[in-house]
Amino acid sequence: MANARLIDGKALAAELRQAIAKAAADIKARHGFQPGLAAVLVGEDPASEVYVKSKGKASLEAGLKSFEHRLPAAASEAELLKLVARLNADPEVDGILVQMPLPKQIDPRHVIGSLDPSKDVDGFHPANVGGLWSGGQALVPCTPYGCLLLLRRTLGNLAGSNAVVLGRSNVVGKPMAALLLAENCTVTIAHSKSRGLPALARQADILVAALGKPEMVKGSWIKPGAAVIDVGINRVAVPGAKDRLVGDVAFAEASQVAGAISPVPGGVGPMTIACLLRNTLLAACRRRGLPEPAL
Ligand code: NAP
Repeated sequence: MANARLIDGKALAAELRQAIAKAAADIKARHGFQPGLAAVLVGEDPASEVYVKSKGKASLEAGLKSFEHRLPAAASEAELLKLVARLNADPEVDGILVQMPLPKQIDPRHVIGSLDPSKDVDGFHPANVGGLWSGGQALVPCTPYGCLLLLRRTLGNLAGSNAVVLGRSNVVGKPMAALLLAENCTVTIAHSKSRGLPALARQADILVAALGKPEMVKGSWIKPGAAVIDVGINRVAVPGAKDRLVGDVAFAEASQVAGAISPVPGGVGPMTIACLLRNTLLAACRRRGLPEPAL
């Protein structure tokens, strides 16, 4: 196989953000409000600061309201739960995002469980997880939903494909598997205790790598012509230069075998933020009983 087709997340995310901005303007004109996204940051983790800033900027660019709430690193769980309760009750807030990871004195499960599920734009609340797996209405986690949109755009109908998801986190692997199952794929989920990972991966028409292991997936793991979605974001030190960002897939060799592959950066990353804005808009419409824009 020659070089694989590039799955361009930057381009699709820009398209989606434009559609979201148009839908938000439409909602404002017809119904007189702007959907609002509240981001909560506890502590001063530099990566989290960057994420929260870029989410706020993207919200404003799409015509959504953006609220930022900060608590000190030493904040107690009770303080954070109080803030969440306030945001749950605030009619201007349609989506709440609590940036992870949280300081160790705070149990993320308590925080996720305290969110109003209708405002849980990360899709982590048990009610949304249940909705996703049972085929009900749910807010779906942004990163795997972004991967699904990339796959649909690349392949069209996914039904009947063998899909292998490497990784089983609640944030990526598990919801990705649920989404692919709902598309009628035959789904395998692999993890750190799985035996024979390369052979499992080689069965995949669709391979999603969400391991957090720099360039672990080699070209030899890939079925010729497969669609490969690389979720990984790993910083690798380069002596005497800036860190390099790499995915979980060894891109150069994998792209010699795959039919299509998403790059890092410029693949899944931009889709995640676009899907967060999409969820905020959907949450705003659902909470008010308005028709949902087709996004
Ligand atoms: P995570 O919570 O650390 O989960 C990693 C998963 O990979 C686990 O299920 C783990 O298995 C499995 N795994 C780790 N090492 C393995 C090995 N050697 N063999 C087989 N399986 C192995 O990570 P995550 O939150 O899902 O994120 C995964 C990657 O995606 C990270 O690089 C993260 O930065 C990136 N990410 C990107 C975005 C984006 O917007 N692009 C969003 C979220 C995450 P066990 O369950 O058995 O431990």
